[in-house]
Amino acid sequence: MAEHEHEHQHEHEHDETEAADEEELERAARRLVALSRIRQYGDPVLRMKGRQVERFDEELARLVERMTTLMHEAQGVGLAATQVGVLRRLFVFVDEGEDHVLVNPVLTKRSKETSTDEEGCLSIQGVLVPVERSLEVTIEGADVSGEPQRFELVEPTARIAQHELDHLDGVLIIDRTDEESRRNALAKLRPQPVLGAR
Ligand SMILES: [Zn+2]
Repeated sequence: MAEHEHEHQHEHEHDETEAADEEELERAARRLVALSRIRQYGDPVLRMKGRQVERFDEELARLVERMTTLMHEAQGVGLAATQVGVLRRLFVFVDEGEDHVLVNPVLTKRSKETSTDEEGCLSIQGVLVPVERSLEVTIEGADVSGEPQRFELVEPTARIAQHELDHLDGVLIIDRTDEESRRNALAKLRPQPVLGAR
């Protein structure tokens, strides 16, 4: 009986590990699906500028909802409209565990003090490059219903906001990094020859 109980307990533990593994796999799969819906480096839309949003309607609300879901499923902390092929000036981001949207964002203040840190991008998979950003920024815009919004942000959210704002002007992290990091990143991004292909 003791033996059986032991076995039973062991089986139970095994089930729990399997469930955790399955959850992990599902998260990874969801991330891949989300990334496939986010424009990737080489797509010309990432080099285009977003236009000012004029209508705060149902369509905008749906776009914000879609972008927020995609950002989380891709396990990111920020996503700009241009990254989903929509040329409008808005981005979503996470600050202290809360979701936010900023429509028609304008950087109204930035600290002279900067920091350089490794930055990645949901549109540039597998690349991390050092980027210098202002430590503190004030950024103003509107929420999804057109109400004015003002954020005073510090690292790391200040960095995220500057990164997403860049996307709305077609600017990417490889444009903001040093020459050597840029060269290395571009080498990684170049399509690799397929072995055996003639
Ligand atoms: Zn990005």
